[in-house]
Amino acid sequence: NPLPRPEAAAVSTNAQLFERAQQSIPGGVNSPVRAFRAVGGTPRFITRAEGAYIWDAEGQRYIDYIGSWGPMILGHGHPAVLEAVLAAARDGFSFGAPTEREVELAEAIIGLVPSIEQVRLVSSGTEAGMSAIRLARGATGRSKIIKFEGCYHGHADALLVKAGSGLATFGHPTSAGVPAEVVQHTLVLEYNNVEQIEAAFQAHGKDIACVMIEPIAGNMNFVRASVPFVKRIRELCDQHGALFIFDEVMTGFRVALGSAQSLYAKAIPGFTPDISVFGKVIGGGMPLAAFASSRRIMQNLAPLGPVYQAGTLSGNPVATACGLATLKEISKPGFHEALGAKTRRLMTGLKAAADAAGVPFSVDSEGGMFGFFFMPELPQNYQQVMTTDQARFNRFFHGMLERGVYLAPALYEAGFTSAALSDADLDATLAAAKDVLAQA
Ligand code: PLP
Repeated sequence: NPLPRPEAAAVSTNAQLFERAQQSIPGGVNSPVRAFRAVGGTPRFITRAEGAYIWDAEGQRYIDYIGSWGPMILGHGHPAVLEAVLAAARDGFSFGAPTEREVELAEAIIGLVPSIEQVRLVSSGTEAGMSAIRLARGATGRSKIIKFEGCYHGHADALLVKAGSGLATFGHPTSAGVPAEVVQHTLVLEYNNVEQIEAAFQAHGKDIACVMIEPIAGNMNFVRASVPFVKRIRELCDQHGALFIFDEVMTGFRVALGSAQSLYAKAIPGFTPDISVFGKVIGGGMPLAAFASSRRIMQNLAPLGPVYQAGTLSGNPVATACGLATLKEISKPGFHEALGAKTRRLMTGLKAAADAAGVPFSVDSEGGMFGFFFMPELPQNYQQVMTTDQARFNRFFHGMLERGVYLAPALYEAGFTSAALSDADLDATLAAAKDVLAQA
């Protein structure tokens, strides 16, 4: 329905709801970044969404550049997706038994990503990443894992870890409740640092089960793994018998129809990761994620092999209907090209507005994912990202929010576009940015 619905009169303000929420929910939120701690101020309580917009409890409309942190690539309430979800819900919410739709979704993912022969569906990116690591350890019979500073792969205990004091030393927990013993096998290295990964394999090569990476790191805003870096990791994994895991929870089916790995395959002939992790877009906004690999590696999973993994709601019939309908829409010819053009137009416009205001600024994007930095050059790793002028970012964030543009409320988060954004939405966003940057 393209007609705007009249907004109901506000019953409670955002501030009242936040106050009330903090009584019954720790910090008032069910996932910490929603609390606006990084930027200050009151989180918006969302009442509904449609197309490119979300509305808060006070009836204020925002152009949405979060899209539920990535899943809503078509915008909200896409008619074909809504139809599929409603039809599936009428047939039942959950069976705890296999369905044809799970097979269809697995087949759709396999059809789009050449490195994959089998898929296991789960309910969150955290679960998928945790299971992928268990699979890698089970398949190799090794314990040690390598991750990179600034990459987030969900909140499994072994991944809540920061770099140790020196090169090739193992990490320290970043959360209370994670014993040091649980992260003793996790090595945390600098993103895009070829020498460090070479040294790590030299020191521990025969014990390394896997290297896990966000190929475009959306959890430090938007930082690409360089082609030489990815190529060298692939070589080292092959030489030492370790598995290379691409965490495409954010990038999967969003930066390209074949996901980020299809972009690296263009630059590195024959490139594939060994295990891929997906979430967000494949569920279209429903709780759904997956990990996937070759048949040979996936045969290690229960009930066939010794690596245990399970889930009451895994492959849920309503979630798979939502995911399938979403994948069908984004598989239409030219989808990612059109989305990429919108995103680039937004980024080019932001950069021009910053230049005009004399504000040091850099931008990057791929498909429906983007990043911008209040610094003259794009950063290459977490340390560099964290040199961003936080106060300036926060002023920009709030200025945009006041003008009806909803960006991620933290400087280390990526932004997301959707196919529902119109030229008028992009123009309105850029006009707001021009205004805010002129005052920054
Ligand atoms: N991996 C990446 C790259 C992510 O961005 C996220 C979440 O943002 C996760 C894993 C965890 O996914 P979830 O929040 O669904 O557990």
